[in-house]
Amino acid sequence: MFTSRQIARRIPLRSPRRWAHSLPQLNSVTKEDLAHFSKILPPSAILSTLSATPTPASELEPFNNDWMNKYHGKSTTVLKPRNVKQVSEIVKWCNERRIGIVPQGGNTGLVGGSVPIKDELILSLSNMASIRSFDDASGILVADAGCILQSLSDYLTPLNHVVPLDLGAKGSCQIGGNVSTNAGGLRLLRYGSLHGSVLGLEVVLPDGTILDQLTTLRKDNTGYDLKQLFIGAEGTLGVVTGVSILAAPAPQASNNIMLALPKFDNVLPLYREVKKQLCEILSAFEFIDRTAYDLGVKHGQGRALDSEVVEGAECFVLVETSGGNREHDEEKLNNLLESLLDVDHPLINTGVLASSPAQFSSLWAIREGLTEAMSKEGKPYKYDISVPLHKFKEVVDKTRDHIKEMGLLHDGAVKYVVGYGHVGDGNLHLNVVASEYTPEIEAALEPFVYELVATYRGSVSAEHGIGVMKTHALQYSKDATSIELMKRIKHLFDPKGIMNPGKVLV
Ligand SMILES: Cc1cc2nc3c(=O)[nH]c(=O)nc-3n(C[C@H](O)[C@H](O)[C@H](O)COP(=O)(O)OP(=O)(O)OC[C@H]3O[C@@H](n4cnc5c(N)ncnc54)[C@H](O)[C@@H]3O)c2cc1C
Repeated sequence: MFTSRQIARRIPLRSPRRWAHSLPQLNSVTKEDLAHFSKILPPSAILSTLSATPTPASELEPFNNDWMNKYHGKSTTVLKPRNVKQVSEIVKWCNERRIGIVPQGGNTGLVGGSVPIKDELILSLSNMASIRSFDDASGILVADAGCILQSLSDYLTPLNHVVPLDLGAKGSCQIGGNVSTNAGGLRLLRYGSLHGSVLGLEVVLPDGTILDQLTTLRKDNTGYDLKQLFIGAEGTLGVVTGVSILAAPAPQASNNIMLALPKFDNVLPLYREVKKQLCEILSAFEFIDRTAYDLGVKHGQGRALDSEVVEGAECFVLVETSGGNREHDEEKLNNLLESLLDVDHPLINTGVLASSPAQFSSLWAIREGLTEAMSKEGKPYKYDISVPLHKFKEVVDKTRDHIKEMGLLHDGAVKYVVGYGHVGDGNLHLNVVASEYTPEIEAALEPFVYELVATYRGSVSAEHGIGVMKTHALQYSKDATSIELMKRIKHLFDPKGIMNPGKVLV
């Protein structure tokens, strides 16, 4: 185990801007390229400021700017293919011409991976949004990569199944983007990661070859499991065009409860107790610190809890159950609540048990609205980290103290340092909400946060990925041998470096 001081000496941190020189030499899209693309795609699928009838720059803005409005590209051209053959032809041409490509799904990523660094071509999957098949016996769904997560969920609901993935961005993010970021989200505790539930992928490789691994087999031990390489590759190894995923049977009854805790130290013993009592019906255990809760109800859709519930609470935990028998599950939850309160030193102050579907949604809305709430309050520096559960509060407190010591905790600089996240997955979302993104605040936070994570042998990216934001911090969670192997894999797939240049590895 290293101290942060030792790590700082071992690993010089370089800011993303200073990596720019090490990007591969790539060409810009020209009018000749557009002429070629117009042989592949109809005019409606080409947005370009270089066209004979130029697309207004304002129409390209949503594709060039990321969800946080923190990372900005200068792409002149967005292509929207409808099928894998078109993707293949576009990618083949770009490879021959050495044109950088940024695959883009719903553009909800939080690490700047989905927008160009310079003027790379943006390949939007939004026109590839068909469901290819669903087998209600096996639960296997095969869909185009551009299907929006919410629409897949809506499709499966009447068929008594659920997508094994849920996140606050579900109304915009696409299944191909989810796979490419290996998104975790709110159901990971129950259904595990996409490395388990994705059964097959169809991918266009950087030379245009179509890799058809769109299997619907649950068991297939025939050598290397190549699809795993693309899960979480953030578009650096190819374009995901189709996904085969194992949907789960829809729970017959879901319920939730928001617990108010007097102190953070109670979270871990509470988690143990909740797991013991709820056992197989536990489907989410989400942590929200007090400041995050306050901002969540200030800006979000969830109704504030009654003041007597909130009073004296240092943090909250949202527990969800999903099971097969409503009465049985409700009884278990009621028993849990009673047993938690009926002791000399209760772990919780009180709790609110959802008594209607509307209240169930409202409690979830508090949690799901947090990401958006931070952006409404100011400019959030987002650190999505894995650390041991008992360190969640320490990380938030140490970061706040550090910002204070640097004289940056005041109106006009950093407004709040908050934590929330997926306790069950050991994933903390540390958010430092500032009035503006400034080099001074960034310098105060990095490498500080990454060093702190490394002292706990944690991960600098639990679920959002590396994108452009954390390329310089990869070394805090991966050793030199691993990074070297990753670079060799990247070179094997993409020797010209056209796929999402400057992301993940530089
Ligand atoms: C409100 C909110 C809540 C969120 N909550 C969570 C959460 O709980 N858990 C979590 O893990 N994440 C969360 N995220 C971030 C998460 O990474 C994204 O929401 C989602 O997985 C990205 O999907 P997307 O379609 O928007 O991809 P994009 O943002 O478009 O792209 C993300 C990356 O994937 C690549 N990519 C996209 N599509 C493809 C493709 N078809 N082929 C190859 N590469 C591709 C892009 O190049 C980029 O590198 C949240 C984001 C928001 C805004």
